[in-house]
Amino acid sequence: MKDVSRRDFMKYCIGSAAVLGLNLTVLGKLEKALAAGGGPPIIWLNGSNCTGCTVSLANLFSSSAGTTNVADLLLNTIDLAFHPNLMGAAGDLAVAELRSASATEGGFVLAVDGGIPTAFDGRTCMLWTEDGREVTAMEAIKELAPKAAAVLSIGTCASFGGIPAGNPNPTGIRSISQIAGVPTINIPGCPSHPDWVVGTIAQLLAGESPSLDSDGRPKAFFNRKIHDRCPRKEKDEAKTFGIDGRCLEELGCKGEKTKADCYSRYWNSGTNWCIGANAICIGCTEKGFPDKFSPFYDGKGHSDESKDDEDEEEKKEEEEKKEEEEKKKDKEKKKDKEKKDKEKEDDEDDDEDDD
Ligand code: SF4
Ligand code: SF4
Repeated sequence: MKDVSRRDFMKYCIGSAAVLGLNLTVLGKLEKALAAGGGPPIIWLNGSNCTGCTVSLANLFSSSAGTTNVADLLLNTIDLAFHPNLMGAAGDLAVAELRSASATEGGFVLAVDGGIPTAFDGRTCMLWTEDGREVTAMEAIKELAPKAAAVLSIGTCASFGGIPAGNPNPTGIRSISQIAGVPTINIPGCPSHPDWVVGTIAQLLAGESPSLDSDGRPKAFFNRKIHDRCPRKEKDEAKTFGIDGRCLEELGCKGEKTKADCYSRYWNSGTNWCIGANAICIGCTEKGFPDKFSPFYDGKGHSDESKDDEDEEEKKEEEEKKEEEEKKKDKEKKKDKEKKDKEKEDDEDDDEDDD
């Protein structure tokens, strides 16, 4: 396998600037940060998860660039101080790396994939042993998150609880933000798309803060509903699976309730996406997934609880719209008043001149 150099990484970011949501200013800052050593160290922890988000990220570099190595990219190009699946170090040595990164002047970035178990005192998810004691994920997040310059929740489990938090949630899974006590940047998806992760990390390395929506997701990737841009919108409804080009709403598609840009980004290095493969969108980037969207393959099938959530969300959206309209009206009123005042002033000036 070929190693990924800083230049390769930069080349990748420049070539994919638009899809990664990076503008020229951010690219310039990123180049400087990489030249100066790669920005703050990243500590990546695994809570309760399937490692799918790490695999998804690894696929980006192994398939789109052919013979590259994501471990090398992360360990050498950006300073990934700790990652249970990608680092070479183990045991005390790995913990020592983590401790040194967490003491870095100027801070470190904490990235977590997986939800955090809270039942049984969090002892269903141990991350490492230190001084003869096992450290739980809950303990690690509580200790490290408040010290981090930024906290990234990678994937839906970390962002909102996801599948591990599904009913009856026997291990008491909570999201990172619920445990951390600090705001997090949420990059959901089951798994998260590698571009969403790389684009956000590149922004942070460049010293920029991504603009976030009300669920903490970068707006660059989660600004629109799948349905709004779906090529099957307003096409005839499919009544059974396997028919190309038909809208899948009747079969349970959740594109109407799901924000993400899969319709243009595609997965597996641009091969296809869920709806393109005639499968429904199951709402994997949304808060409440999977319970809120289950059963998946039933268009009308939402539990009463989910329905309440949806009503609440619709209400929230309506309120936001109303607020924006009021603001617009206020602005117009203000403009109107200013115009009238100006006219009055001009009239008065004219009167004075006549006198
Ligand atoms: S397939 Fe899904 S996202 Fe596409 S138009 Fe139909 S309901 Fe909307
Ligand atoms: S189309 Fe829907 S279910 Fe598929 S990856 Fe995108 S958000 Fe997730």
